[in-house]
Amino acid sequence: MQLTGRNIVGYETFSEGTVAIQSINPATGEALAPLFFKATLEELDYAAEKAEKAFQTYRKKSGFEKANFLEKIAEEIENLGDTLLERYMLESGLPQGRAVGERGRTTGQLRLFANLLREGSWVNARIDAGMPDRQPLPRVDLRSMERPLGVVGVFGASNFPLAFSVAGGDTTSALAAGCPVIVKAHPAHLGTSELVAQAVQKAAEATGMPDGVFSMLFDDGHEIGMALVKHPAVKAIGFTGSLKGGKALFDAAVSRPEPIPVYAEMGSVNPVFVLPGILAEKGRAVANAYLASVTLGVGQFCTNPGILFLQNDKDFIDEIENNAPNTQGGVMLTPGIRDAYVRGTEHSKQFTKVMGIGKAPAGHTAVEPVILHTDIESWNAQPDLAEEIFGPTSLIVEANTKEEILIAAQNLTGHLTATVHGTEADFEEYAELLEILEQKVGRLILNGFPTGVEVGHAMIHGGPFPATTDSRSTSVGTRAITRFTRPVSFQDFPDALLPDELKNDNPLSIWRMVDGELKK
Ligand code: NAP
Repeated sequence: MQLTGRNIVGYETFSEGTVAIQSINPATGEALAPLFFKATLEELDYAAEKAEKAFQTYRKKSGFEKANFLEKIAEEIENLGDTLLERYMLESGLPQGRAVGERGRTTGQLRLFANLLREGSWVNARIDAGMPDRQPLPRVDLRSMERPLGVVGVFGASNFPLAFSVAGGDTTSALAAGCPVIVKAHPAHLGTSELVAQAVQKAAEATGMPDGVFSMLFDDGHEIGMALVKHPAVKAIGFTGSLKGGKALFDAAVSRPEPIPVYAEMGSVNPVFVLPGILAEKGRAVANAYLASVTLGVGQFCTNPGILFLQNDKDFIDEIENNAPNTQGGVMLTPGIRDAYVRGTEHSKQFTKVMGIGKAPAGHTAVEPVILHTDIESWNAQPDLAEEIFGPTSLIVEANTKEEILIAAQNLTGHLTATVHGTEADFEEYAELLEILEQKVGRLILNGFPTGVEVGHAMIHGGPFPATTDSRSTSVGTRAITRFTRPVSFQDFPDALLPDELKNDNPLSIWRMVDGELKK
């Protein structure tokens, strides 16, 4: 497939706008061909109009039909072959192994959702059968299930050009729910976005999906993104990015005449606690595993461990001091992300001790890892230190007592994850720490690291604000589907008028709660 720079609107493409933008190769600073045309507000309106119309057909597609569509998208992405991988690497500065891995994650999650749809029980069907003879009053026949919300707007993420962009987790879960999607491409990877959008468009046509089930628009600045959030046809938003961006979109969505949900995943600092027993047993090994996790992918993961708490331990600190200078940095995704990293680490250095600066390769946006250290009193006195610095940096905070550790945990805001390293005896002694952390995060990890987010049925990639704008959901894994549905009850419907999922003879053989009991 060829790059055209055109916006994809259902089965058509447009480039009516006069503003052209280009992706930048972060390794060289070079502007990459071709030019991409910023969408016009008319093109957005047209995409929204098509999507609204498509919803009336798409919402009624069976799980099997939607599963075929998702699988076809995966196949078309694979058919892009090296063209996609090469463009991904040029635009992101990420290496081939990561490109291949992320493509696998993207197609894997499309297929995982396809399986969920074929199995069908995700709709949470509930049946309270009518009791016309109940005394003193008859009981109505009441049946409920999840139904799609409507058109969903998705913002591509900078740090996952495939798995959290055009056909990434948000798009996949919205399409699986039965919602048409309009994607606002991330300006950091315009070519990757167009290639994947072409693959989705092709898959939609091949599987007989309605024109408008999917569109993708380019923007230069915030005009199209903001108009997407405010568009009356749009019923929900999926976003991954900065706290500032996510909060701006959330505020705009709740001030609409008809407010809509915004599922913004805005990253976090992912605190790690290393307890005394494990420090004594294998503190040096934990120190090195932590350095590896901090610097993985140039630290550009929302699950990067940004703070580590421990009670004074000289061996652990010595190990970090010895090995931090040997860690590797790399090219960051965009000049803006590099600048934010440099600004953030320079700011934190004013209030902390630098334990080690790693190495940076050559490259336009290349940075080195920065590992910082402070004591609990300075941590408590300087709230700025708790803010996320996106990139390969982390702050080690040394406390003196268990009490100080528990207070530090209690004072944390919401995060995506929290990690605790300990022995069995540590976990008994610090049971209260686990209780506190469960109330702060979406995922608790014991004796591991938060980087590496498994896409499955039990994954929660979410957490209380400011990690996300809605802690009741996840943006990774199959539970993400219910962000784009709402429950509907059908009262006293004859069997023929009910959706298949709620019919008496259970034609789809799904699990349902019938009079309070789960059965097939
Ligand atoms: P971002 O600035 O939040 O932008 C994400 C997307 O939202 C972009 O398409 C952006 O368009 C758009 N956007 C942002 N603010 C908007 C607004 N007020 N109205 C309409 N659209 C808006 O995130 P980013 O570009 O990925 O990176 C910037 C920073 O975000 C990083 O330095 C990092 O701190 C953070 N980040 C965090 C995570 C995480 O998961 N923790 C992931 C990625 C980035 P424009 O690009 O045109 O502004």
